[in-house]
Amino acid sequence: MRALSGRTDRVVVVGAGLSGLSAAMQLAGRGRSVTVVERGLHPGGRVGRADVNGYRLDTGPTVLTMPDIIDEAFAAVGESLADCLPMDPVHPAYHAKFADGSALQVHTDAAAMAAEIERFAGRAEADGYLRLRDWLTKLYRTEFDGFIADNFDSPLSLLTPSLARLVALGGFRRWEPVVRRFLSDERLLRVFTFQALYAGVPPQSALAVYAVIAYMDTVAGVYFPRGGMRALPDAMAAAASRAGVEFVYGAPVSELEFSGSRVAAVRTLDGLRVPADAVVLTTELPDTYQLIGRTPRRPLRLRPAPSAVVAHVGCRAVGDGAGQEAGHHTILFGDAWKQTFRDIIDDGKVMGDPSLLVTRPTAGDPSLAPPGRDLLYVLAPAPNTEIGSMDWDAAGSGYVQQMLSAVRDRMPGVGDDAELLHVVTPADWRRQGMAAGTPFALAHTFAQTGPFRPANTVRGVDNVVLAGSSTVPGVGVPTAILSGRLAADRITGIPVRRLTSEVNHS
Ligand SMILES: Cc1cc2nc3c(=O)[nH]c(=O)nc-3n(C[C@H](O)[C@H](O)[C@H](O)COP(=O)(O)OP(=O)(O)OC[C@H]3O[C@@H](n4cnc5c(N)ncnc54)[C@H](O)[C@@H]3O)c2cc1C
Repeated sequence: MRALSGRTDRVVVVGAGLSGLSAAMQLAGRGRSVTVVERGLHPGGRVGRADVNGYRLDTGPTVLTMPDIIDEAFAAVGESLADCLPMDPVHPAYHAKFADGSALQVHTDAAAMAAEIERFAGRAEADGYLRLRDWLTKLYRTEFDGFIADNFDSPLSLLTPSLARLVALGGFRRWEPVVRRFLSDERLLRVFTFQALYAGVPPQSALAVYAVIAYMDTVAGVYFPRGGMRALPDAMAAAASRAGVEFVYGAPVSELEFSGSRVAAVRTLDGLRVPADAVVLTTELPDTYQLIGRTPRRPLRLRPAPSAVVAHVGCRAVGDGAGQEAGHHTILFGDAWKQTFRDIIDDGKVMGDPSLLVTRPTAGDPSLAPPGRDLLYVLAPAPNTEIGSMDWDAAGSGYVQQMLSAVRDRMPGVGDDAELLHVVTPADWRRQGMAAGTPFALAHTFAQTGPFRPANTVRGVDNVVLAGSSTVPGVGVPTAILSGRLAADRITGIPVRRLTSEVNHS
């Protein structure tokens, strides 16, 4: 891996989202003097927050996976995730509800899930699930080092023995056909492929390598931090501060001061100048290229991921019986499937027959809502503003009402006495500065995967490294945290300790 040359003693990280926090922790742990400059007033970025009428809303991610990757960031500063952030496993990880009225609990424990699938679809499917689980686990192990958690200097970096193993596993085939080798029940297929949406690609055309997302949530498990998702960036920022990282909030970076091909300082809108030997930019990709004054040429236009509408609702707390049914995360699958992806990705329309993610964070931490109330987060995948033509400001509230009535119809006892607290549409994401009105950055198509994704270094700029969901490895909480570590590796080289632990691991 190519590392930066020259001095890297003082590093400025632009952005206190998960990628910036992770980079800062890794760099501080490696002896660098680090300043994080963030335009917002608190850490988290897309792990957003809003306090409304006594409810504590998380406006970004809700499905937290792979705590061991998060722990790596805490370990870098000599701390541990377990000590810094109380977190509970979510059991079951999901409730899946289908349009035909059937329902399945998605357990991460193999025996519990096999038993649930046997009840739901018979013994042959349960056996198929166990074989799929085995395959997902092998896929993850093969892919982690060398693909997900490594820097690429060029596509040639892919040519390792792991590549042959990944090809043999079917990683470069398409996700859904590979899962069909193990399962034939159409409803189960959805449970193990809907995660393709997180990658911004339909499961029929997504690369099977992305089935690692299904490994992360259905096998490795889903967790929830007490205090809500915002507790994660807060804990990371606190650990980084204890390690000496300085934070400057409310400070939009407007300019990089160049000295030849190196950035000598970062300047903010209100005139602050922070000298730097190296810089990590976690800004939105078009902003990044504007700041550094160049946009790398690409043979194909960059394709943004689809977006989402999120409605936050306070409602009467579900009783114990309904609470069991409602759980923490529920996926309401519509009847349509392929058409759903065509609607939002190709045709730029809202889903004709919506599939929704309903999260009830108060299942994990009742203190997030006033007494006797529940907090719901209802997410509908939606077209980004590049492909979609919906006037969200005019039609958004009607669409949100449709989403909420689908929730009430399909989850009896959930959503009674509802008060709409907050809505975020693709138009709002765009107003927040997100390219193409999507918070999910670039779709994970083949041409935007691994060494073909916008790289975390930019030719001609010697001391700037990129991190965040638009660069490697991609979108998501664990991946943003990995991208911060990959940025730190570019700046310091790979620390010997990590190399040793990886050798021991394999
Ligand atoms: C609605 C939603 C649902 C999601 N669901 C999940 C999920 O369930 N599971 C999952 O794993 N992932 C999920 N994600 C994705 C995940 O949250 C993101 O991929 C990840 O948080 C991105 O982190 P980041 O550091 O790349 O970017 P950001 O969080 O955007 O961080 C960038 C930071 O840089 C700051 N910044 C930008 N420009 C400037 C500037 N000029 N000057 C100073 N500061 C600047 C921003 O304010 C921001 O704080 C979801 C995201 C959203 C929005």
